[in-house]
Amino acid sequence: MTDVLVESLYVVSAMLFVLSLKFMAEVRTSRLGNLCGVSGMAVAIGATLMAYQSQNTSLLVGAVVIGAVVGSPIGLKVAMTAVPQRTAMSHAFGSLAVALVGAAEYYRSAPGIDPVTLSVLSGEMVLGFLTFTGSCIAFAKLQGLISGRPILYRGRMYVSLGTLGVAVASGAYLVANPSQEWALLIVAAAALVFGFLLVIAIGGADMPTVIAILNSFAGISAAALGFVLDNRLLIVAGTLDGSSGLILGIIMSKAMNRSFTNILFGGVGAVIASEAGAGAKVAQTYTPDDVATVLRDARSVIVVPGYGMAVAQAQHAVKELADAMQARGIDVKYGIHPVAGRMPGHMNVLLAEAQVPYDQLWEMDKVNPLFPGTDVAIVVGANDVTNPAARTRAESPLYGMPILDVDKARTVVFVKRSMGPGFSGVDNDLFYLPNTMMVLGDAKRVLTDLLAALRNLRD
Ligand code: NAP
Repeated sequence: MTDVLVESLYVVSAMLFVLSLKFMAEVRTSRLGNLCGVSGMAVAIGATLMAYQSQNTSLLVGAVVIGAVVGSPIGLKVAMTAVPQRTAMSHAFGSLAVALVGAAEYYRSAPGIDPVTLSVLSGEMVLGFLTFTGSCIAFAKLQGLISGRPILYRGRMYVSLGTLGVAVASGAYLVANPSQEWALLIVAAAALVFGFLLVIAIGGADMPTVIAILNSFAGISAAALGFVLDNRLLIVAGTLDGSSGLILGIIMSKAMNRSFTNILFGGVGAVIASEAGAGAKVAQTYTPDDVATVLRDARSVIVVPGYGMAVAQAQHAVKELADAMQARGIDVKYGIHPVAGRMPGHMNVLLAEAQVPYDQLWEMDKVNPLFPGTDVAIVVGANDVTNPAARTRAESPLYGMPILDVDKARTVVFVKRSMGPGFSGVDNDLFYLPNTMMVLGDAKRVLTDLLAALRNLRD
């Protein structure tokens, strides 16, 4: 009877996880998606406690209580901009748990464990342990605890792949000789070192994509453990986690026009590249008052936010400016690039926090045809996602990345602190065009000054 109830609750939990992903796909329904995910996990934990009720559950209950006490403040207090590193820590804990349960299962069953089960166990332990150290390094880079620069050295590919080879070979040896416990320790140690070597060589700005890929690894290892433990819910949840992480990684790398190999082994961010001759060009700088004068005659404006808006926490200033422009009868839209900022949905989340209505957010494909008929494009701390080098310069790291066509608007206003490049390190030719107004300064301060200037305008 209990078995049937537990399996039924697992089905309910799996359905809630699927619904969670479905609802998360839309900003409008994402809170409901979150609720479904949390409820699914609560049902899963309850069902698992029920499944083990014949045994001593005090350890399990203790673990749940400690997890809740540690996890709740992390969830409640972490700032929006720190979500990528918080996610990295979740993957670190999840994958470590999976790897340790795998190791415990080996010690419980060896040497009588069958070769197929032991192969799956070895594989999931390799993935779990490497994801643990990889996620810890990703966390440390994003949190600024260590340098975000990729650490590169001659022959690093051989060292990394050699370490992975040791982990896999030790796993294979263990399968052939299940009683040789020492081989399991080598599997664990080599996988831990490989995770470290893999991520330490990747630039900090690529960490969000790396985290999506590590998410996928953690999910796959959990699904594999589900097969070993014969736990259907773990198989479903792990597969959902593994496939959604992989899909997210693919979407992010496509939107950046990068391959997985380039992200994992490219070492991007080591050298700040700049386009030849950039220093010779001259850009026109303007004040917020100048921009207010241009806005006096504008009928349509598209605001393009980027990473700098997040750094300056300028989303509320953006919203206030948009309100003031709308009060003057200007049509205001926001053009959202899929990889603007440093994590998927970064701009949507910040603008939602500032109460910008969803219907004013226009995705890249929908907003691009509107730029030629737009009076002013105001670019707030965005750079790469507007860079026309992506269209024209085959040698540029940005080449092929779809961009927001802000250069097609009548006037482009760039709000940023300097003439410096963005994440890709590529100079932006748009800064030097005659219809571009560069307004240099912190985005929040510039937009606040622009708002004041707009309010002081005499019509
Ligand atoms: P970006 O190209 O990195 O440019 C951001 C600009 O913001 C910088 O040029 C910087 O110029 C400016 N800035 C920084 N702090 C500022 C402040 N306080 N006030 C005003 N401006 C400030 O950003 P993006 O256009 O959003 O493009 C995102 C990039 O990140 C893309 O290359 C994308 O491939 C990459 N990426 C995205 C994701 C994702 O999931 N979204 C993940 C990984 C990588 P100054 O220093 O001159 O101010």
